[in-house]
Formats: sequence, C-alpha cells, structure tokens
Amino acid sequence: MSRVVVVGGGPAGAATAIALARAGRPPLLLERDAAVSEKVCGEFLGADAARLLAGLGIELEALGAVPIRHAVLAAGRWQAEAALPFAAWGLPRATLDAALLCRAREAGAEVRLGAAVASAQEAGAGWQLRLGSGEVVEASRLVLATGKHDLRGLSRGSAGGALGLKLPLHGSLPATVALLSCRGGYAGLQPRPGGGANLCAALDPRTPGVAAAARSAEALMAHVARGSALAESLLAGLRSALGRPLAVAGVPYGFRHRGGGPFRVGDQAAVIPSFCGDGVAMALASGLAAAAAIDAGDPAARHHACWSAAVAGGMRLAGLCAMLHRRAPRLLVGAVSIAPVLLTTAALQTRLGAMPSRHRCRALVADSTTSGRS
Ligand SMILES: Cc1cc2nc3c(=O)[nH]c(=O)nc-3n(C[C@H](O)[C@H](O)[C@H](O)COP(=O)(O)OP(=O)(O)OC[C@H]3O[C@@H](n4cnc5c(N)ncnc54)[C@H](O)[C@@H]3O)c2cc1C
Repeated sequence: MSRVVVVGGGPAGAATAIALARAGRPPLLLERDAAVSEKVCGEFLGADAARLLAGLGIELEALGAVPIRHAVLAAGRWQAEAALPFAAWGLPRATLDAALLCRAREAGAEVRLGAAVASAQEAGAGWQLRLGSGEVVEASRLVLATGKHDLRGLSRGSAGGALGLKLPLHGSLPATVALLSCRGGYAGLQPRPGGGANLCAALDPRTPGVAAAARSAEALMAHVARGSALAESLLAGLRSALGRPLAVAGVPYGFRHRGGGPFRVGDQAAVIPSFCGDGVAMALASGLAAAAAIDAGDPAARHHACWSAAVAGGMRLAGLCAMLHRRAPRLLVGAVSIAPVLLTTAALQTRLGAMPSRHRCRALVADSTTSGRS
C-alpha cells in the first residue's frame, strides 16, 4: 500500500515525518546523503526554533547548544551591540539534523539515508518517484522538503539569488552573534559548542572577490575581514577548519510558493532572508503545518496559500532589514548604535511567533506542537 513519502531529511522533512508518524500515518522519508552532513547555515536558533524543537522532543541544552545573548552589527569602523530580546542558541546543523532524524525514526517513520530521488511525477491519485538507484517508489501524498535543491520536473521556478558560504573555524568567541557587513553582502559569526565558531555569509555572486571567496577559506576570511574593523579583529583569532567553504548557489530570498503540486515545506515553501536567522524555525513550522493539512485531507494548494499568507509580513520586514544592511550598512549600524531598540524590534518582528495568528495553518502548527499523538 502506498503511503506519504517525504523527500529530504533536513529540519522541514524531519518535522513533517515526526508529526505524520504521531498522527498515525508513519511516512517514508528519503534523504540523499548517506550520513547526516553539515549544511550551509548560520546555525543561529531563536526562541521559536527552540519551542518547536521542544515540541518535537529535542532540548537544545541537552544537545550541548551554546547560549547566545547578544547581537553586534558592524560595518567599516562602526559597530552597535544590543542584548537579544529572546533566548537564542548556536548548534551545528549536523547535530541538529541527526537528532531530528532520530526522533522521526523513534516516532515510527521509516528513514532511508543514501536514497536520492531523481524525479517524481503524478500517477493516478498519487505520485511515482524514481530514485537514483533506479528503484521506483509509490506515494499517496508527496512532501517536497529538498531545501535549496529543486527536484527535476518540480522546480520552484524562482530566479536564483545569493551565494551562501559556510566555514567552521577553530578558536573561541564570546556568546554573541556578530553580523558583519562586507562587500556584496554580510556574514554571520557565532560560537559553536566545545569551542570553535561558525562563519556563514550570504553574498551577491557578481561582486568582485566573491568567486575567489567561494573557492578558498583564506579568501573568504579576508573578504569578510575587509568589511569591518570588528570582523578583522574577531577573525584574526580564528583559523579555518576546512580548505574551502561549503557553498550553495542561487538562494532565492523572499520566495514564497503559492501553487499546487506536491506539499512543499521548508525552503521549498518559502525562503526568509537569513539575516534574521529564522529559517530553521520556519522549516520546522511549515513541516508541522503540512503534516496537519495532510492529516485533515486538505489539498496542497490550500496549505501553500495559507502558509504563504501567514509568513508574508515577517518575510517582507526581514527583506527590508537585509536590503538596508546591504545598501546602507553604516547608516543602519549608526542608527542601531543610537537606538538599540531598532535591532531588538526587528529581531522580534521577524520571528515566526510575531507573524499573524489569524491564519488557520498557524493554529494547526500550535496544535501539532503541543499535542503530539505518539
Ligand atoms: C547563508 C545562509 C545562512 C543561514 N543562516 C541561518 C541561521 O542562522 N538560522 C536559521 O534558522 N536559518 C538559517 N538559514 C536558513 C536555513 O538554513 C534553511 O531555511 C533551512 O535549512 C531549511 O530547511 P529545509 O529542511 O527546508 O532544507 P535543508 O536543510 O536544505 O534540507 C534539505 C534536505 O533535502 C535533501 N535533499 C535534497 N535533494 C534531495 C533529493 N533529490 N533526494 C533526497 N534528498 C534530497 C538534502 O540532502 C537535505 O538534507 C540560512 C541559510 C543560508 C543560505
């Protein structure tokens, strides 16, 4: 008998699988990587992500996450600091994704690693998937949780944008997330558990120096260090753990899916500018909302319309903040140094918890996080 198939084992796919299994519909989850790996991500997890993870059975402290209490913005010689208006943490994505897939298995989902889906097409009332190995899998419902990667024939149709780069570093940092302006974009720098740090940049690939930064750890660190005095001093005490950064191209910031087709979750449904660091929370919440919609027999188009409307306001504000930081970084840093409340307000208003509550899918998210039926 065919069942729900979730393609992709990141936060969105794992959250969908856990919620479906708890609802008595254990799905098959197919993840192309043979072992859980690092993802291009700043690894900043705010209070929304922590609340959603707790509902899925994951306590960040128990996984060794580093508490982050302050944010500092820097551009040129300017810098501005503010206490975060909520609790936040830093945790390597490999640790988080492994814990989520473990919970999915415990809840009853079948999780297959090393199972890359090559294509999917509608077949009768369901879907037929072809794996890279040639195996064919039938699905009653299909959940697309492939993140930044489109499946052949089911592309998001979004025009590509930023280049995301990530570099794990050795050395130590204070419990602060630093948002460092640099040519063509910005980088986030924050501590990792057990020492070390994570440097993650979102850059315009057409900017001079960015192509070289994508090829070499040293070039990326130098590119970021040139953007501000703070970056220069912080990076001087750190050294790269890799020869070249991990990279993902064409990140379509601001994208929201509004059509039908398979159920799309996480970055397949909407991509919030990573400047505000709420992508993982949105991935988890969209997975929970999709699972609730599937359980209720809702069509995918209704779920997408609802999710898109629920996150539109927060995403617009996040886009505005990212645009200001890109186009007028010194002005933004100067304004925050005079009124730190600007930073705390923007941080609060781009959180999932601040997005409008009148939409039905938000209610579904709340239900499914608080009343796990395992
Ligand atoms: C530069 C940058 C910095 C960011 N910083 C932050 C941050 O600090 N905090 C935050 O909350 N968010 C951040 N984000 C956003 C966050 O990383 C994403 O929103 C989140 O990872 C989306 O989760 P997902 O499950 O949709 O996709 P992903 O995490 O990308 O997972 C998708 C999974 O699908 C698998 N897959 C892909 N194709 C196939 C296939 N054909 N078959 C089977 N499996 C497949 C992949 O291997 C992967 O495991 C950042 C993003 C960028 C680009």
